[in-house]
Formats: sequence, structure tokens, C-alpha cells
Amino acid sequence: MPPLFPALTAGSARQALHFGDRSLSHAELASAAGTLAAELHGAGRVAVWATPTLETSVGVVAALLAGVPAVPLNPRIGGRELEHILSDSVPSLVLAAPGDELPPALGALNRLDIDVRAPGKPLPLPDEPPAEAPALVVYTSGTTGPPKGAVLPRRAITSTLDALAEAWQWTGDDVLVHALPLFHVHGLILGILGPLRRGGTVHHLGRFDTDAVARELAAHGTMFFGVPTMYHRIAEALPGDPALAKALSGARLLVSGSAALPVHDHERIAAATGRRVVERYGMTETLMNTSVRADGEPRPGTVGVPLDGVELRLVEESGEEITAYDGESVGEIQVRGPNLFTAYLNRPDATAAAFDGTWFRTGDMATRDPDGYVRIVGRKATDLIKSGGYKIGAGEIENALLDHPAVREAAVTGEPDADLGERIIAWIVPADPHRPPTVEELAAHVAQQLAPHKRPREVRLLDALPRNDMGKIMKRALHG
Ligand code: ATP
Ligand code: MG
Repeated sequence: MPPLFPALTAGSARQALHFGDRSLSHAELASAAGTLAAELHGAGRVAVWATPTLETSVGVVAALLAGVPAVPLNPRIGGRELEHILSDSVPSLVLAAPGDELPPALGALNRLDIDVRAPGKPLPLPDEPPAEAPALVVYTSGTTGPPKGAVLPRRAITSTLDALAEAWQWTGDDVLVHALPLFHVHGLILGILGPLRRGGTVHHLGRFDTDAVARELAAHGTMFFGVPTMYHRIAEALPGDPALAKALSGARLLVSGSAALPVHDHERIAAATGRRVVERYGMTETLMNTSVRADGEPRPGTVGVPLDGVELRLVEESGEEITAYDGESVGEIQVRGPNLFTAYLNRPDATAAAFDGTWFRTGDMATRDPDGYVRIVGRKATDLIKSGGYKIGAGEIENALLDHPAVREAAVTGEPDADLGERIIAWIVPADPHRPPTVEELAAHVAQQLAPHKRPREVRLLDALPRNDMGKIMKRALHG
């Protein structure tokens, strides 16, 4: 198997990782991670206390070099969820940055501190593990239920990163500005392993803030990866922040993923910067499935076309495949390809239920434009509303609501209704809490933009929408 990180193997002197004023070149990373890899040899699964630090990056790279599956842990989850992940993944030890305080749930585990200083004499890197060897166990975001551990082989990581490189013209000359957490696919696999595989550079900001994004992009960044809540904050800040507009205008590629980017935010950013955010769609279980290409036409509200090697089909509830590319027929997205995970850890039942033969059922519903662009209408479980004989996606109604000046945030759900089957509910965070929009106003606004049967029947006001640490709206918390 060719090396996962050719620039590490080659000992490249280019800068690889920056976290604040601490940094490592590819050669220094090879040396620090190689030394730790020698200690990890044969360790079984290892947990990594995944703070946004140089240490986490070195720990994960060391585990990958050693062929020891790494389980990144969200340092912000507490009690029950952490205990669930630990009892499910049974790591043999936990890797942490020196000085990090670990919660009591981790107390029983052996701790190994990650040393990021390159030792004097670099060790030869271990032989590359096989393509199908489990490389990472990443837990899903827990948006629809308790998180499940997805076992990701090296093959899935290399194929997804190489397909993205092709679609985004991503090279070792790129410098990524990064502000995402390191325990999910987006921040860890795309944001850290991506630049390392390309032999390029990443600057991690520690935490997201629009000033830091502007500063780093202006200084040296070519790419920025964010989640929609970050782009929302960028869209809000742009009118009063010419430096941010200038920095974004100069970037080569702005990418959004992990949840749907509201069309309203996409348009506001395009108007202020002349740049269109590229949207991609992926999951923990499948890594990346589709993306708008760097040389393609960005189309707000779509997630682009299947990536190299990824096969994608839309399947109706009846099991019938949708062959039409009509922008209208809604089906479940099913995918197959080298980007897929192997299984859910300890969950043969859930693994079996997730597949239709070799096709993985994503649980996401979509339509396809005539040229193949995929439009996600929402999740089958929470975003597909059956009302008055129609199947309605929550996403387009949310986009229409967000376009109303009195609306700051919006989520749409269905509730049982004697007449309609389900009734459309709009959960609204008003722009001005003293002047919230009325149901009549919002219903008229939606009926004008979409179709009358898509109008909300009820408006429920909130101070904020329930979101997880990736900014995803937790719809299951809305009714509960
Ligand atoms: P869980 O599976 O535990 O309920 P989750 O599905 O949110 O949580 P992830 O694997 O992190 O966990 O997220 C994958 C999901 O995120 C996809 O199935 C899809 O619903 C959503 N998603 C990702 N990118 C996009 C996008 N660009 N547009 C719309 N939805 C997206
Ligand atoms: Mg999921």
C-alpha cells in the first residue's frame, strides 16, 4: 500500500501544522508521530482526547502510522455519552496533551502523553498497514439518536481525500484555515489528514471567530472549511467588515458541509465577496459523497455531483429507483464506493439495516437536477413531512423562512394532524424578539415563494434552536 502521507515519508521541510504559534513541518511531524507510533505498536484501539491542538493531530497521525485504530473523543461531552463511547470502543489507553485534565470516566485508562517535540534522530516510519485495516473509529454526531461508532478503513480515508483533491484542485500548495473540532470527519479527516496527505499546510485557529478567519486568510490561507453556523456568522459580519470581505474574496476555495447551508447565507456571502461557497455532502459512515467542483458551477441549495468513485442512486419508499433527473422526484440517497465504512462497531443489527445489498442507505432525501446536481431536501426521519397528500421537504421551507426579514433562525417539522396527516410547524428565532413574525405573515411569504401547501400552519417562537457542537439542528429536541 502506498503511504497515507507521502510528504511525511519523504521528510518534506514544508510547514504542516500550525496551532497558534506552535507548528511542525512534515519532517518534524514524521519524527514526532513516528516516535509515538513505535510506542503504540500492538496497542489495540487507542482513544485520543481530541482538543483542537497539535497534540491531537500528532496522536492521530501516530496511531495511523502504527496501524492502531484511533477513537477521537469529544472533550466537551460529559458523563453518559462519554461512558457509552468508552464501553463501546474499549480503548487500551488514552492519548492526551500533557497537562490536559481528563474527566473521571477516563480515570481507569492508562494515559500516554503526546510529545510533539521532534526527537533528535528520526526513527524509520513503520511499514504501511493494509488498505482494509481499521484506521479510525469515529462516532456519528448523534443528531438522530445515540452516536454510533463507524469503523473507517484506510482505504475510505485515502479514496475520499483523493476524490476531494481532484474535485477541488487541492494540492500541497494549499494552506487551509481551520476552526472546526477534531473529533468528527469534517475537522479531522478533511481538515487535518487532508492537508497532510496533500503535503500542504493547515492553520488551526483554536476557535472560530470572524476576525481570526479574516486575518489568517489574508496572511496566507487559500482555503477555508466551515459549517453553516460559521458561514451564517460570516454573512452577518460582512456588511460591517470590509477586511473580512477582502480576505474571503482572495481565498481560492470556501467549503461548507456537515449540514445544509441556507441559501440566504450563500447569497449574502456571494453578494459581499463575489465568492460562492462550495457545498459538499458527506457522513461519518461514507466520508464524502458529493461536492460542487472547484471548476463547476456553484448552485445554492445543492451539494453538487457524486465524487470520483462514488455511485449514487435515489430510491423511492417502494424500493423503486428514481431514474428521472427532473429536480422534483424525491428519493432516499443511497451510495456505494471505496469511501464507505466497514461497519458500526458492535452493532451488526444497525450495520445490516443500513445496507441494501452493497448500497448504503444514507437516510437523506434528495432530488436531482437535469445535470446531476443533488439537492438534499432533508432527513427521512425528521425532515420529510407528509401533509395533504404531498411529501414536503423541510429544507426548502426553512430556506424560504430564512429569507424573511423578521426571521433569524428557522426549523420546520411535521406534527400529526387529523385533517392533513401532518401539519407544518415553523420553529422561529425572531430577528427582533419584540416584534416576532406572525403565522399569517410567514404563511403568505412561503406560499408566495413555494406552493400554498408548503406554508406553515403554526409558528412557535424560541430564543435559540437546539444545536449540537457542529451547529446541527437537533430536531428530536424540539418536540421533546
Ligand atoms: P447521527 O447519525 O448520529 O444521527 P449525524 O447524521 O448528524 O448524526 P454525521 O455523520 O456527522 O452525523 O452527519 C451526517 C449527516 O449530516 C448527513 O446524513 C446529512 O443529513 C447531514 N449533512 C452533511 N452535509 C450536508 C450538506 N451539505 N447538506 C445537508 N445535509 C448535510
Ligand atoms: Mg447519521
